[in-house]
Amino acid sequence: MNGPAPASRGLVRPGSTIGILGGGQLGRMLALAAAQLGYRTHVFVPEADSPTAQVAAAATVARYDDLDALSRFAAAVDVVTFEFENVPAATAQHLAALRPIHPSPSVLAIAQDRLAEKRFLNGIGVATAPFRAVATPAELEAALRELGRPAVLKTVRLGYDGKGQSMIRADGDAAAAFAVLGGADGILEGFVDFRMEASVVVARTAVGDVAPYVPVENRHVHHILDTTIAPAAIPAALAEEAVATACRIARALDLVGLLAVEMFVTRDDRILVNELAPRPHNSGHWTMDACRTSQFEQHVRAVCGLPLGSTERHSDAVMKNLIGDEVEGWLEALCDPAAKLHLYGKAAARPGRKMGHVNRLYPRAG
Ligand code: AMP
Repeated sequence: MNGPAPASRGLVRPGSTIGILGGGQLGRMLALAAAQLGYRTHVFVPEADSPTAQVAAAATVARYDDLDALSRFAAAVDVVTFEFENVPAATAQHLAALRPIHPSPSVLAIAQDRLAEKRFLNGIGVATAPFRAVATPAELEAALRELGRPAVLKTVRLGYDGKGQSMIRADGDAAAAFAVLGGADGILEGFVDFRMEASVVVARTAVGDVAPYVPVENRHVHHILDTTIAPAAIPAALAEEAVATACRIARALDLVGLLAVEMFVTRDDRILVNELAPRPHNSGHWTMDACRTSQFEQHVRAVCGLPLGSTERHSDAVMKNLIGDEVEGWLEALCDPAAKLHLYGKAAARPGRKMGHVNRLYPRAG
C-alpha cells in the first residue's frame, strides 16, 4: 500500500460531519466546499441566522463558554475546525479533549497573540517589524525611544481590520495613543515603509504535505482588505522567498489546515511577516475561481486527512470585496463575463461589513 495508514493521516471520510466554530462568510464557503466533497457540516456560533448556518446541515447557537453546548456539539461531529482564530483558548481546549481539532489549540494560541506570534516567528528565523511589549505609558515612551517614530501601537490580542491600533507620528501624542489600548496589553511596532502588502496561503496535512498558493498583493482601504491581485507583481526571487517563508512557518507550527501569512514587501526588497491567520483567509478568495483547488476545499482536505489538491492557478485574478453598500453592484457583476460573484447572505449592509466579493479572471500572464 502506498502512503501512510488512514489512522496516521487522521482520515475523516466523506459522509462524516465537520464541526466549524464561527458563523461568518469563511465558515459559509468552507461548508459549501465540504458539501461538494460529501461532508456534512455543523456550525457552532453565538449568533442566530449566521452566514454559515444558512448553508450548514446543523447549527448549535450558543456562547463559546457554554461547555455543555460544546460537549453536545463535539459528540455530533467527527472533526472540529475554525473559521476564525479568536476562539477562546478554554473553548478550544475543551473541544480538543473530545474530538480531533485542527489547527491545534497551540497554533491558535500563537495566532491570537501578536507578541507570541512575533517571538515565535523571530525564533524560527523569520523577520518581522521590530517590536516591544508595552504595558504602561512609561514602557511606551521607552519603546518609542528605541524603535523611533513613526511607530504603530496595537493591542496584543483581538485586533483586526485596524481595530485597537494607532499610528504614532513624529509629533504624535503617545499618551493619547496609549489610551486607545483601553487598558489592554500593547505591542509597539516599528513603522514599515512597505511598497506592497502581500500574503501567501499554504495548506499542510498531518503527514507533512505542504501546498502553497502563489503570493498575492493585498490593497486595503480604511484598514479593511479591498482588493487582492493574484499573482503579486514582485520579482521571482522574492515570490520564492515569500512561499518558502510561509511553508517554513506552517511546518514549524506543525500545522494541520490552512495558514494565511500576511507580509510586508519593503522598498529594499525584504519580506517581513506581519500576521498569521490559521484558517481560510480573505486574501485567498481568488482561489475559488482561479485555481484547480480553492482554499476552502484545501482546508477541508487538510483537516480531514485527504490528499491536498493542486494549487495551480489556471487564470490570473483580481478579487474585489463588496463592503457595505458596494454590494449593490451585484447585478453589474452578474452582467460582467469576466466576473464571478459570491454573496454571503447577510441582511444588513452596514458600513465596513463584508457582504460578498467578486473574482474577475484574466488569462495567465506568466
Ligand atoms: P494588522 O492589524 O496588523 O493587519 O494591521 C492592519 C494594517 O495596518 C496593515 O495591513 C498595514 O497596512 C498597517 N500596518 C500594520 N502594522 C504596520 C507596521 N508595523 N508598519 C506599517 N504599517 C503597518
